[in-house]
Amino acid sequence: MYAYGPVPSRRLGRSVGVSPIPEKTCSYSCVYCQLGRTKTLTTKRHSFFPKEAVFADIEKVVRANEGKIDYITFVGDGEPTLSLDLGALIHECKQNFPYKVAVITNGSLLWMEDVRQDLREADVVNITMATSDPDTFKGMHRPHGSLRFEQVWQGIQQFAAEFKGQIWAEIMLVDMVNTDTEAMKSLKTLIDSVHPERTYVMAPTRPPAEPWVHMPRPETILEALALFGGENVTQLEEGSFGLDEFHSAVEAISEICRRHPLRIAQARTIEAYFAQRTLDRLIASGKFKIISYQNRKYVLPSEFVFGKQEQS
Ligand code: SF4
Repeated sequence: MYAYGPVPSRRLGRSVGVSPIPEKTCSYSCVYCQLGRTKTLTTKRHSFFPKEAVFADIEKVVRANEGKIDYITFVGDGEPTLSLDLGALIHECKQNFPYKVAVITNGSLLWMEDVRQDLREADVVNITMATSDPDTFKGMHRPHGSLRFEQVWQGIQQFAAEFKGQIWAEIMLVDMVNTDTEAMKSLKTLIDSVHPERTYVMAPTRPPAEPWVHMPRPETILEALALFGGENVTQLEEGSFGLDEFHSAVEAISEICRRHPLRIAQARTIEAYFAQRTLDRLIASGKFKIISYQNRKYVLPSEFVFGKQEQS
């Protein structure tokens, strides 16, 4: 399944997610990643799946949810610009549907001409901009060995100069990593150079890849909001998941929690929708685990859980 949802998104409303890449394939392995540690760390672009099959899946989900969609969002179970089919898929979506298309990218490959070309028909490109410091960049994103901080930022700036749609800056704040006042001021200067239409201040509200990653303190978030002038996306999203394309609670819970951290309460709502009790069996099978983060319980695939605190 390449397309899913609509899922409630804090920035994009009801968003049909599209993942044109294999699970956890990324050019970064961010310490805060909600998908766990990256399995395939790469900067090599591939046509991972037949693009006709990916588009057929998008079409199926979109047609089943006409009128209930705000965005079709290429987000990937990793970095979507690694897909060589991204440009063709965005083009097909723009030709066939009336919905806006967004791409959520870490921005690491924008120095590549073909990546910039692939994104040109998107309405929105949301780019990670978390630090202006090369060492913090390395420690926070753990990029592929071939990527250099300066190269990544030059790529972002070049894309910003060429792109006709909206650029949104995503600032992920990790406590004690990039939350120093001077570091945030310096990042602000860098972000200003690409003139984003919107700036989102984010925090690891969902279980991160590494257990030492924490939300910044509320006063730090307020300081960041005042400095960046951005919107606060440090709260949990509300709303329900589109479940029409799933046939059972087990299928829905398994698919959704691979792409979108699922709170236990949300999993119970899915069980109620299908009138099936399945979560306890999934946990007992060992394929899924419950972990606690920020005083909430989440269900995650076992392979996403590394050093995270596991609950029985
Ligand atoms: S947060 Fe995004 S860029 Fe970072 S490792 Fe996860 S998928 Fe890749």
